[in-house]
Amino acid sequence: MNNLYDIIIVGAGPAGLTAAIYGARASKRVLVLEAKSYGGQIVGTLDIENYPATMHINGYDLATSMYHQALELKAEIKFEKVININEALEVTTDKDKYQAKAIIIATGSDYRKLGLENEDELLGKGISYCATCDGNFYKGMDVAVVGGGNSALDDALYLSNLCNQVYLIHRRDEFRGDQSTLDKLKAKANIKFILNANVTKINGTDKLESIEINNGDVINVSGLFIAVGRIPENQNFAKLINLDNTGYVIAGEDCMTNVPGIFVAGDCRTKELRQLVTATSDGAVAAVKAINYIK
Ligand code: NAP
Repeated sequence: MNNLYDIIIVGAGPAGLTAAIYGARASKRVLVLEAKSYGGQIVGTLDIENYPATMHINGYDLATSMYHQALELKAEIKFEKVININEALEVTTDKDKYQAKAIIIATGSDYRKLGLENEDELLGKGISYCATCDGNFYKGMDVAVVGGGNSALDDALYLSNLCNQVYLIHRRDEFRGDQSTLDKLKAKANIKFILNANVTKINGTDKLESIEINNGDVINVSGLFIAVGRIPENQNFAKLINLDNTGYVIAGEDCMTNVPGIFVAGDCRTKELRQLVTATSDGAVAAVKAINYIK
C-alpha cells in the first residue's frame, strides 16, 4: 500500500482517535501518527465521572476502547513521531514520509514543569507528574502535590488513600478545580493544605528528601507530584501554522487553521474549556471539515 492517505491525524488522544473514528466511518483512508502511547492525558485519570453515559470509567479503559474502535473501523495507527508537515500536506516522521489530502493536528499537551533545579535530575526518584502512574511507589510515605487545578485535586485525593501524609501546596488561596473534589479533600484527615505558597527548592541528590517553600519552611517528603497544568506540543509546526503566544494552534470552533487542508482538534487548540468532552467534540468537527475539504 502506498503512503497516500485521505486524512493523517497527528496524535492518538481522545481528539485524534475520535477524528479517526469519524474519518474511517466516512470510508476515508485514515492514518493516526502517535509519538508516545495512545490515550493522551486521560490515561492518567483513574476515575472519569464527567463523560456522559459512562458514570465512572477508568481513563485508560476509555482510551483503550477508543483505540480499538478506531482500529476496528480500519483506521491505521502508527507509533512514529511527526517532525514536520508542510503546505503540500506532506508529513515527515522519524521513520517515514507520508502524503495526506487533509491533516488534523491533535497533539494535546505535555506536563508543565516548575522549572526548579533538580526537577529533571530527580524525575522518577521522588519527582513525578502522574500520581496514578507512580503513587504506588509512595505507599505509607509523606508526599506533596503542587497545583490548584483538577489534576492537583485528583492527585491529592488519590494519594491520600495510599500515603501517610499529603501536603497540597497551591500558590493562591482559591482552587480552580471542582468544588466537589475539594470537599472530599477537606474531609480527609491526612491532607494538609499549604496555601499562598510556592515550592522554591527541591532537595536531594540520589532521591528526593525535602522541599522548601517561599516562607522558608522545609517539608520532608519522599514524593513531589507536580500538577501545575500542561503546555501544548506544537513547536514542530510553528513555522507553518499560526500559534498564539502560549503555543496553542489558533482556531475557532470550526477547527480550521490558517493553512488550507490542515485542521486542529483537542487541547492543543485555542479554546475556553479543555475537557475530554470538548476534545472528542473537536475530533468529530475536524474530521467532518477534513472530509468536506477533500470533496
Ligand atoms: P490547570 O487547570 O491549568 O491548573 C493548573 C494549576 O497549576 C493552577 O491552579 C495554577 O495556579 C497552578 N500553576 C500553574 N503554573 C504554576 C507554577 N509555575 N507554580 C505553581 N502553580 C502553578 O491544569 P490541570 O489541573 O492539569 O487541568 C488541565 C485541564 O484538564 C483543566 O481544564 C481541567 O479541568 C481538566 N482536568 C479535568 C479533570 C476532571 O474533570 N476530573 C481532571 C484533570 C484535568 P493558578 O490557579 O493560580 O493559575
